[in-house]
Amino acid sequence: MEPLHSLLDRFEAARRPGGFGYAHHHHHDGGSHDHHLVIGAIIHGDEVGSLPAVVSLIEALNTGTKHYGGRLTIFLGNPEASAADRRFLDADLNRVFIDEPPPCHEGHRARELKPMLDAADVFVDLHQTILDTDRAFYIFPFDEPGWQWARAIGAASTWVTRAPTASFSSGTCCSDEYVRLRGKPGLTLELGPKGFHLHAEQRATTALDKLLAVSDAVATGPNTLASIASDAPELDFVHTTWSQPFDNPRMRLIDGLTNFQQVTEGQQLSAADTPPIHAPHSGLLLFPKYPGYSSDGTAIEPRPGEIARIVQPLSGHPSDVWARELNS
Ligand SMILES: [Zn+2]
Repeated sequence: MEPLHSLLDRFEAARRPGGFGYAHHHHHDGGSHDHHLVIGAIIHGDEVGSLPAVVSLIEALNTGTKHYGGRLTIFLGNPEASAADRRFLDADLNRVFIDEPPPCHEGHRARELKPMLDAADVFVDLHQTILDTDRAFYIFPFDEPGWQWARAIGAASTWVTRAPTASFSSGTCCSDEYVRLRGKPGLTLELGPKGFHLHAEQRATTALDKLLAVSDAVATGPNTLASIASDAPELDFVHTTWSQPFDNPRMRLIDGLTNFQQVTEGQQLSAADTPPIHAPHSGLLLFPKYPGYSSDGTAIEPRPGEIARIVQPLSGHPSDVWARELNS
């Protein structure tokens, strides 16, 4: 796999800045229509798997090997954290797209990224999971435009979703949420486990190519986003049915848990001789956390807010299940 510094060098060599005062972005204007796609990569520094795809896309658009008639902005959220092989340096960037970001590296970065998010007609944020996962998946609250774009792009068949009114958590704001609060679709796509993987690159390439193609098709007609989406396979909707707060620093999961692993009611999830955690019902495990531990058995701070969750299939289509929230 091509090393990080080489990919960052290629990005720097290929990028053509738009009117945004941020160093690590590329802007493309195809000149045929005004639809503005914004792509976020490495908002979490160690989730570098989308980089080969975005760099190759920029190069292909520059040389004319690929075409897109609208406007496209691609930004690298946190290359400084990537260079340190860390999720972030001072604070989780994907929590601080708030009115007054904190005075630290990521807070400053959120201020620099916001103008690009403000200009987006559609925003797609490319992420990877900390632990292994058997699939790529979308993860963001349900809304109609987000659903149509996610389905039309078809980059994943699973969508970990939640009610449209449920905020991520109070006092924080992630990038896709920031865009949705402006009334535009904001999608987060998890490409697979973090790091450079060929399947992550291929998934990102397929997703981005499709995103551009759908945007062109909708802009030039006669297809509509709704018609393109309805021609694509429907997504599988799952939602969180249980989440275990990491409220005791001695909590520790048994080794080897992964994303989308089937668990059964009563199954022990905690390691021996640690505060007991049992699955309250069956479902698919998501985001099991393995922070580092001190020799006294306590998790190294700052520990995550939750240690694991379970997701289950939604009881019906989100547009029915959450009809009231969507119409309010
Ligand atoms: Zn991430």
